[in-house]
Amino acid sequence: MKQARWLYTLIAVYVIAAFSWWTFLLVRYNNLIHNLEQGNLRHHAELAQQELVYLALLGSFQSEKALPFKAGKVVLRADTALVRHHLTKAYPDLVLHIKAEPEFEKAFNFSKNPVELNRLEKERQKRQWMFISEATVFAFLLSWGFVVIFRSYRQKVALGRQQNNFLMSVTHELKTPLASAQLMLQTLQHRQLDEIKQKSLLGNALKDLGRLNNLMEKILLASKLDGANAQKHFQEVHLSSMCEEVFNRFVNLHPNGFVFNLHLSENVYLHGDSFMLESLVSNLLENAAKYSPDGGLISLTLNQTTDVILLSVADQGVGIPETERNRIFEKFYRVGSEETRTTKGTGLGLFIVSDVVKQHKAKIKVLDNEPKGTIFEIQFPI
Ligand code: ADP
Repeated sequence: MKQARWLYTLIAVYVIAAFSWWTFLLVRYNNLIHNLEQGNLRHHAELAQQELVYLALLGSFQSEKALPFKAGKVVLRADTALVRHHLTKAYPDLVLHIKAEPEFEKAFNFSKNPVELNRLEKERQKRQWMFISEATVFAFLLSWGFVVIFRSYRQKVALGRQQNNFLMSVTHELKTPLASAQLMLQTLQHRQLDEIKQKSLLGNALKDLGRLNNLMEKILLASKLDGANAQKHFQEVHLSSMCEEVFNRFVNLHPNGFVFNLHLSENVYLHGDSFMLESLVSNLLENAAKYSPDGGLISLTLNQTTDVILLSVADQGVGIPETERNRIFEKFYRVGSEETRTTKGTGLGLFIVSDVVKQHKAKIKVLDNEPKGTIFEIQFPI
């Protein structure tokens, strides 16, 4: 990751340097064109002067109004109106000046046409702005492209890491209850035990199989929700009784561990998928238990107002840092690293929760509980 950051910084510096250089070159090139155009004007003035003398020598500007003028050492004659007429046609970028000379009545010379000069200057400024703005837009687009590529690369690396963690924890989650149930069943097969012990071993084996079943269901549901055509079976769900059932099942699984609190408004109905909604509630409750110390209070609340149904699961556990709150719903994401974590999990629970929330067009909030812990609050529109 550090290498990638360095690489990105180097590329960014290169892009900025390349574009500054490019802009500098373009501005120089622009000034060069401008100077050439100016030079062209000067050259035109010289040409016009020579042409005027040449035509005057040939007698092209002769009339009764012709006046003498001096060209070097030669004195020629020309009608100023004819000269002006010829020059405005042949050299529109020049202005003809006719001024009084002490020895001769009139003398000619030229200057650049101010209108033309103005046009050239405007052209120059326009081109300059065009170059600068094009370079800026191009630099911006390129940098943005780099940012997008870098981000998607980073996401890919993170996803790879999360998938790896997922495989590690799933293998563990599968192996542990399986090995434990196998051991208990082998004990029952090979040893003569009294009825109470037999029942207790069977009960524990069933619990392990229940855990396995839960895990398989979670993985299946997550992959189903992830698929392009996740199937929904929407119908009228009696949310109050469904929450009660899920809660009672949850309490039975943790008979002595926590203090439980259930507050349900009666007869709350929701148009939704009952299987998905059960999964949502049980995942939130499971997490509350997983991330709470023994004896912690776990509450499930369901309320209905005129326009929303509010469902919340609160615990007094370790809490979720503010910085992690928008990442915990990502698939396979788990807070902390595999080495330091004490709880086992797959990073799928909240992914399922957020997907179910989305499917029901609901909203989910993660809030701090008092004095500690977390509240997950879901608002279903009615
Ligand atoms: P898992 O629990 O299998 O790790 P989840 O998707 O259910 O995966 O949760 C993602 C992460 O969110 C967990 O790793 C945990 O760090 C955090 N988390 C979820 N629920 C709670 C909770 N009630 N209290 C504290 N942390 C929680």
